[in-house]
Amino acid sequence: MPVRLAQRVQQLPPYLFARISQLIAEKRAQGVDVISLGIGDPDLPTPPHILDSLKQAADDPANHRYPESDGLPEFRRAIAQWYSDRHGVELDPDTEVLPLIGSKEGIGHFALCLIDPGDVALVTDPGYPVYEIGTMFAGGETVRLPLREEDGWLPRLDEVPADVARRAQVLWLNYPNNPTGAIADVAFFEQAIAWAKEHDVVIAHDLAYADVAFDGYVPPSILEVEGARDVAIEFNSLSKSFNMTGWRVGMAVGNATLVNALMRVKTNLDSGIPQAIQQMAMTALADPRDAVESHNAIYQRRRDRTVEVLRALGLRVHPPKASLYVWARLPEGERSSADYAARLIDATGVVVTPGASYGDAGEGYIRISLTTPDDRLDEALDRLGRFARGEQVL
Ligand SMILES: *Cc1c(COP(=O)(O)O)cnc(C)c1O
Repeated sequence: MPVRLAQRVQQLPPYLFARISQLIAEKRAQGVDVISLGIGDPDLPTPPHILDSLKQAADDPANHRYPESDGLPEFRRAIAQWYSDRHGVELDPDTEVLPLIGSKEGIGHFALCLIDPGDVALVTDPGYPVYEIGTMFAGGETVRLPLREEDGWLPRLDEVPADVARRAQVLWLNYPNNPTGAIADVAFFEQAIAWAKEHDVVIAHDLAYADVAFDGYVPPSILEVEGARDVAIEFNSLSKSFNMTGWRVGMAVGNATLVNALMRVKTNLDSGIPQAIQQMAMTALADPRDAVESHNAIYQRRRDRTVEVLRALGLRVHPPKASLYVWARLPEGERSSADYAARLIDATGVVVTPGASYGDAGEGYIRISLTTPDDRLDEALDRLGRFARGEQVL
């Protein structure tokens, strides 16, 4: 019997850079030591004091049973306390905070709260793909707002056509931004909130890089804007801040109606975060600064070495103030980010991500992730440096 898959699965985009995967496989088959600078997953381990609390919590039989979908009340309180300390934002832990099984889960499910067939979600291009895929799963349509280098990679909200704004249910924002490394200040968030109120659009802000920042920069929460919680929900995560991608824990905070809707959707789909992991997350949030600062110092050193080598290759780079990514403009005359990436793999065995894989407006750029261990990053940068000097590398 031939299986007929649902449209939403058939419509999933194919992997855009099959050619690059194939090239990686060919290089490996030739015995080349391929180094990927493509993956945004911290290589550093979760700090030991956070792991200790997980180990202890695992022994407690109270944590062996189903958790509540809306999380432990003490975890919601810990999140509210963290937002208060970190951003000066006061949240009601019972109505404005919802723990998530990693923020990706909440971002994907959030579309089910707002999008009916025919509704529009506004997403930025280039961008994290989940906003668009979640919208498609819910039967909605996405309209992409192109981001441009000359605007600091912030969307031009005043150029959104009136009919699009009328049909839009939600605007997705993400600063510090993946993949561009761009940041937004509170003044931009103020404009965005004012625009959203004028057009009756919800703002969903993805703050996955809340604590991955350099040079003393502190990324703001959109909820720092007066009145933001009338229209905004913010997704946050322990993944990147505490090297906890493998443990799957994040949160949604902000507008109580939106938080409650997401909680009701999730109650019908999942049974919450394992309690031992919530305990571990409380330990992480209770004393965030030491671990975060030592990780950021490592990423900052990697950033500086990476920027120097990319410039030697003729790419244009603004050193990012936050996020785990260096986003670089291809040298003059280079058009295709996929062609350029393919050429680097072929000549050096180093893999970078073509900007076009994050949307059409990412064409002309490549993304390099700072999550490769120092010795491997050094080897990759050494090869790129030799390639820049016209030497034979492999
Ligand atoms: C990594 C990432 C996430 C997802 O993080 P999890 O909490 O691990 O699911 C969300 N948004 C962006 C932009 C990311 O880069």
